[in-house]
Amino acid sequence: MANGWQNLTRGHILVVGGASIDRIRAGDEPRSAPGGAALYTALAAVRSGAQAQFFGFRPEPLPDLFRDAASCVPWHGPACAEDDLPHFEIVYEADGNARLAAASWGLEETLDPQMIEDEALRGAAIVHVAAIHAPELQIRFVRALRQRTDARISAGTYGYMARRAPDTVRQLMESVDLFFMNEFEEKLVFGGERPTVRPGQILVVTRGAEGSDVWQGDSCTRVPICPSSPADLTGAGDSVCGGTLAGLMRGLHPCEAVLLGAAAASVTIEQPGMAALLATSTHAIDARRRAARRDERVRVNRHAVERIGRLIGVLDDVRAFNFCGDHMPEVGDPHAIDFFFASILHQFGFWSPANGVWSRPTIATFGGRRLKGSDYCFAAFRRLLERDPAKLAPLGQSTLRWQDTEALFAADDGTIPLPVLATHHALSRGYGRDMWELGWEPQALVAAAQASDDPARTLLHALDHVSGYREDPLRKKSMLLVLALGQRPERFLDLSRSQSLQPVVDYHIMRSALRTGIVEVGDEALREALVRRQLLDPRDEAAVRSACWEALTQLGAASGREVGAIDAFFFGARRRCPEVEAPDCRACPIDSVCGHDVAMFQPVLRTTAY
Ligand code: SF4
Repeated sequence: MANGWQNLTRGHILVVGGASIDRIRAGDEPRSAPGGAALYTALAAVRSGAQAQFFGFRPEPLPDLFRDAASCVPWHGPACAEDDLPHFEIVYEADGNARLAAASWGLEETLDPQMIEDEALRGAAIVHVAAIHAPELQIRFVRALRQRTDARISAGTYGYMARRAPDTVRQLMESVDLFFMNEFEEKLVFGGERPTVRPGQILVVTRGAEGSDVWQGDSCTRVPICPSSPADLTGAGDSVCGGTLAGLMRGLHPCEAVLLGAAAASVTIEQPGMAALLATSTHAIDARRRAARRDERVRVNRHAVERIGRLIGVLDDVRAFNFCGDHMPEVGDPHAIDFFFASILHQFGFWSPANGVWSRPTIATFGGRRLKGSDYCFAAFRRLLERDPAKLAPLGQSTLRWQDTEALFAADDGTIPLPVLATHHALSRGYGRDMWELGWEPQALVAAAQASDDPARTLLHALDHVSGYREDPLRKKSMLLVLALGQRPERFLDLSRSQSLQPVVDYHIMRSALRTGIVEVGDEALREALVRRQLLDPRDEAAVRSACWEALTQLGAASGREVGAIDAFFFGARRRCPEVEAPDCRACPIDSVCGHDVAMFQPVLRTTAY
C-alpha cells in the first residue's frame, strides 16, 4: 500500500557513489588518504548503528589505504585500477579552511545503474545516491532504482554541481524521498527562497555551526550540532547524511536522526580524514547524541526512579487504558480508526496564561457535564462521529471551514473554550491535506503497520510526515495514537510485536516527574520559573522535557511495566496531583516513595506537542 516508509523496519542502506584518493596538503609533507562522499556516508551509517553497504568502482588489488574502510562496509562494484578512482588534491590553509586545488574524476562518470547487482539491492531499505560526477547521472540512477526497488531513495549534492546546474539539482531533489545539501548549495538551488519540500519528503540543510534545518514536508525544525574539537571538516556533511539515514533505520524521528548524524559528524571532524570515524563506535556516537539533548540544569534522580519504579512494579491498579468510554467510539465502530487519527492530534494546549504565567486549565460544559481539556476534546470528536463520521476522514478534515471547526469544539453555551482554536483548525486541515496528498487513509496505514515486523515503528515513521503529528521529536501524540490503536479491545495494532514504544511525555507526566523527584532541577532560576508557573523559553522547556523523557524511559525498565500502563498511571495524576488544587497525597499510591516537591509545576510553553 501507500506507506512507503514501512520497509524501514528491516534491511540495509546501500550507498551509491565513489571512493576517492585524496592528496592532502596541510603545511607538512603531502599525504594520501581515502575519501569520497559515498564512502564517508556509508562508514558514518555503519558507525551510527545501521547496516550499510557501498557501491562504486573498487580498485583491484585493494590499496592498503582502503583496507580499514572496506573491512567495515561491504563494497560492491566493478573492479578498476587504482589510478581510475577519482583523485582530489585538497589544500588546508593556515586558517583551517580546505580548498580543492585539483580534481580528476577517473572512471566515475562511466558508473551505470545496470552495474548494481541484484544482490546489493536485495534487502535495501534506503538507497542513497551520493554526489557523483553530475546531477544528470544521479537522476539516471534514481530513475533506474525506482524500477528495481521499493526502497526509499535519497541523494545529495555538492557546491560545484549546485553552481553549474542548479535546476538539474532541483530536479534531482524532486525525484527523491530524502535530500541532503548545505546552506551554500541551498542558496544556489533555491535562490534564497524557502525550499519547496513535498509531503512525505525530507530535506536536510546543514548550516555549519548553526546546526541543520530538517524539513518534513513544509515543516522546518532547526537541529543543533554536537560539540567537538574540529581538526578537519572534510566529510562532516557526509557524516550527517550517513548518521541521519542510520537514525531513520533505527526508528528515530527525523530530527533525532539528524542529531545522530550531527553526533557522527562531531566525531569525524576531530581527526583528519576518516581516522576518527574508523576508530569510533555506535555507543560513542549515541552518547554524543544524548549529551547534546542533556542540560546540566536538570537531571534524572536514578535513586528516585528505582524507588518509585519498584513500587509501581507491584501496584495492583497500574494498567493500560483501553481507550473506551463515554467520549470514545463504541467497540466495533467502523470509523474508530478515523476518529483516533483525527482527534489525537488535538491533544495539546488545554490551558491559558495571564500576565506571563499559567493561569487556568481548559474546562467547559459539554453534554451537561464539566469536562477538562483532554476529555473535552475527545467528547467533541465523539459528537462529530455521531453527526457526520465522513468528516473524520482525511478528505473531510482537509475541507473543514472555520465555522466547522467552531461547531466541532463548541460548548453547550455556544462558547469555544479552546485557547488556540486557529491552531487546531490549521492542524486539522494540514492533517487532512498531508494524508490526502500522500494517498494515505488511516485504515490502510494501520493495516500496513500491522503487516510489518514492528507495527508501532512503521506507524510512527508514517506519522512523521503528517501535520499535527510530525512536529514533535519526542512523538507524544504519535505514541498516544499508537497506544490507543493497540490497547483498544479491537487491537488494531499488535503492540507485543512492537519494539519501539516510548514514553508519552505530556504536562501531567512532567508535573509528576518534578513533584515525585525523579527529575530534579538544580538551577535556581529555572526552578523558580517552574514554581512560579512562568512562560518558559523553549530551551528551558526542552531541558525539562528531555530529562522527563529519560526518567520515564528508566522508570519503564525499573518497574517492568509497559509504556501504556505507566502512561495511564501518571495520566491519573491530573486528578490526584492536579494543577489547581493541592495534591491529595494520602490517596496517592506512591505517597510512601514520593519526593513531595509539590510546589513544582510542569513547563509552561505554548506548543502543539502536548
Ligand atoms: S499526589 Fe502527592 S504523593 Fe502523589 S505524586 Fe503528587 S505529590 Fe507525590
